[in-house]
Amino acid sequence: MPHSESPAESDDSPIPMIDVDQQQQEDAVAESTTADVPEPQEPADEDVDMVDSNATTHTHATTQALEAESRAVSQAEAQDHQETPVSEAATSAPSESKPATGVKLEELFDEMDSDEDDEFPTTKAAKREPASSPDLLSSQSDMEIDLHEASDPEVMRTFYQRLFPWRYLFQWLNHSPTPTNDFGHREFAFTLQNDAYLRYQSFATSDLLRKDVLRLMPSRFEIGPVYTANPRDRKTLRNSSAFRPLSKELCFDIDLTDYDDIRTCCAKASICQKCWQFITMAIKVVDTALREDFGFKHIMWVYSGRRGAHAWVCDKKARALDDQKRRAIAGYLEVIRGGAQSGKKVNLRRPLHPHLVRSLDILKQHFQADVLEAQDPWRTEDQQEKLLALLPSDQKQLVSALRNKWASSPDRPSTLKWADIDTVAKTSTAKNFDTKSLLDAKQDIVLEYTYPRLDIEVSKKLNHLLKSPFVVHPGTGRVCVPIDVKRNLEGFDPLGVPTVQSLIREIDEWKKPEIKNGEDEKHTADWEKTSLKGYIEFFRSFVLALMKDEREVKVKREREEEGGGGGEGMEF
Ligand SMILES: [Zn+2]
Repeated sequence: MPHSESPAESDDSPIPMIDVDQQQQEDAVAESTTADVPEPQEPADEDVDMVDSNATTHTHATTQALEAESRAVSQAEAQDHQETPVSEAATSAPSESKPATGVKLEELFDEMDSDEDDEFPTTKAAKREPASSPDLLSSQSDMEIDLHEASDPEVMRTFYQRLFPWRYLFQWLNHSPTPTNDFGHREFAFTLQNDAYLRYQSFATSDLLRKDVLRLMPSRFEIGPVYTANPRDRKTLRNSSAFRPLSKELCFDIDLTDYDDIRTCCAKASICQKCWQFITMAIKVVDTALREDFGFKHIMWVYSGRRGAHAWVCDKKARALDDQKRRAIAGYLEVIRGGAQSGKKVNLRRPLHPHLVRSLDILKQHFQADVLEAQDPWRTEDQQEKLLALLPSDQKQLVSALRNKWASSPDRPSTLKWADIDTVAKTSTAKNFDTKSLLDAKQDIVLEYTYPRLDIEVSKKLNHLLKSPFVVHPGTGRVCVPIDVKRNLEGFDPLGVPTVQSLIREIDEWKKPEIKNGEDEKHTADWEKTSLKGYIEFFRSFVLALMKDEREVKVKREREEEGGGGGEGMEF
């Protein structure tokens, strides 16, 4: 069904919304927002003294063991997938979870807690475009046919049954091949086909999650925090404070709609390679800061399926951050507020913070080609006034000289206009011309047109939910694949990301390779037959590296506990 109305506002919503848990939810929110906002520029050292350099010691054996373990289970799982008849998977509910028709009404919320992504029905309904609006989509007719199919329950069922990487998703959230509370106490939230929003779902294993997804066929599902208790048991706890969020990945959300005032190629939900460069720049800046300033290692970037990207910082120390520290990190990275505010967005103190000096170095490389040439943001007279307004207010002579020069050559491209600023300034006859203030203003302009625009609400709260990697965007049919930023950030093409329909075709078209003499026939999982293969392999290696670090930290702590006792003994 079209995602054109948020559940809260939908009069004809087939499932009545009862907000029994509203108060509990509001309490949780209130609790999490009482702390004072800390100094934005100095969160890192004491609060986020992250990475233990000892933890980088490589133990090949561990990796190999994890890989073997993981391979064994995934092969078993792949076979299990193939052998599960559709009808059985669709109708049999796991005993631990509630059957679809018996969903408790109090489980259904009329409030979307996850407003991070207005590609979907949320409280930001006013900004949203209907997914099927033809001007937002490719005009290719086969694409349109595909889009109708993307919401087809059978297409989705096949995807979740045969292609979705359940095992790796489990290992990613569980941090170990065997089930722990990191997975079991983790909240999942489902957006059902009727737009009902089902929160506080939890599962002991990946298979139970998979079965419930196949049973409920949500249009997407989101991942929330790990709680102190099983989210399904939250009402049986005597003390309501016994149920609180414990940990979650630190997340970031970048969306191209926040660039609508500076991108000229597209607007709203549509994107192209040109404006995707803003996302590429943003990923570079944020990823670099998270690694260099905060010491995080396990950062996964995921395409949001249409016009943005999410970051999941998975390091154990990132997951344990409380709201105050999350707000501090978000504040550190936030220089430009997204949205439609008019006027100058950047006015930075000098000397620039080292994070901004470094970001400027990264962004300068993109400014000429990706902004001035590709976007040509100041071509028209209206647009050029925006540029002139960003020049120092005390240099009226320069501004009027530029305005006169450009009046005689309409449609002068932005690259030349940018160069004109220096040329005209050099010939300026003004006394005491302040070259420093002009340089500062030009740096501010570069940052205004390139610096990441973050939706920091996503980053600030431990209990914020974010769409899971590898779900399918219902509007585009594209899979929310991870982006290998180390190897192929520049080469990532959001429009080339496989759609659920193309993947299912690829499974059908796949041909078994010929078996040479003496070779055993290998089992090939369905995802290996498709262009999802590279993305899942990348995800698998990311998850293995994370699990390896977690295991080493655990082993190290256990050793320290044993050794620590001995050490104390030595002092006697
Ligand atoms: Zn574009």
